Amino acid sequence: MKDALKRVVPERLRPGIRAAFTRLRSFGWQRYCLICDSRLKGFLTHGEPPETDFRCPVCHSKPPHRLAAYYFNDHPEIYREGGTFVHIAPESGLGPYLAQLARGRGMHYRSGDIKGVGDSHLDLLALPFADGSIHMLYACHVLNSLQEDRAAMREVRRVLHPDGVAVLQVPAFCTANDTIETQGHDERMRVFADDGIYRCYTNADYEQRLQASGFIVECVRATSLPDAQVRKAALKQEVLHACRAGLR
Ligand SMILES: [Zn+2]
Repeated sequence: MKDALKRVVPERLRPGIRAAFTRLRSFGWQRYCLICDSRLKGFLTHGEPPETDFRCPVCHSKPPHRLAAYYFNDHPEIYREGGTFVHIAPESGLGPYLAQLARGRGMHYRSGDIKGVGDSHLDLLALPFADGSIHMLYACHVLNSLQEDRAAMREVRRVLHPDGVAVLQVPAFCTANDTIETQGHDERMRVFADDGIYRCYTNADYEQRLQASGFIVECVRATSLPDAQVRKAALKQEVLHACRAGLR
C-alpha cells in the first residue's frame, strides 16, 4: 500500500498528506498545539528518560516551543514593521509558524545555524549583522549547547536594536545550588548522557549571566498563562527569558 502511494503521489506532496493523516489519527479534545493548529488526544512520549505528554505528533513541537509560540502570538507590540526577526537553529514546526507571524507583521524573517538548517549560515558567536540592527531574535536550547555561552549572549546583545527583544530559551530547571557545568565529552556523557548539552542552569544563574551581558531580563513562566492553556498545551514547568537591551 505504501509503495503504491509512493508511485502515485509526487514527492513534494507527501509531507502534507502524511501530516493530514497524522492529524486525523491523533485527533482529540484533550490537547491543543498552537503551532500546527491541531486538536489532539495527547502529545507523544519523548526522550530518554521518557517524558510523557511531550512531543506533538503532527509538527513535532515540544513544550518549550509551544510556550514560545504563545509568547510570540500574544505580544504583537514587540514586532517592528520593516525590522528583522532572526531565528537561530529553526525547528521544523516552529520555524514556519514564526516566519508566518513575522512576515504577517511586515518583518524580514531570517533563520539558520552552523549546521545548514534554515536559509543562512548563522553562528551565535559571530552573527553577520550590524550593531543594533535586529529587532527580534529567538534561540531555543542553543546557549546550553555552547561552551562559550557568555560570548554568545554578548553577541546577541551587540546586534539587538535598542527597542528589540531576544527570546533566549534554555532548560533553567536545575534545582542544585549552582548551574551544573561540564567540560569535555566524557563529562557531558556522564552527567547528561548527551554530548550536545554543556550545562543545566539554575534560573537565578541564567538570569545573572544575561544581565551581566547587558540585558534587562523578563522571566516568563508557563504558569502565568491561563490554566486551561497550560493543560492543553502540556507546558509543564516551561519558562522563557525575554531579553531587552539595557544600558551599556
Ligand atoms: Zn503541533
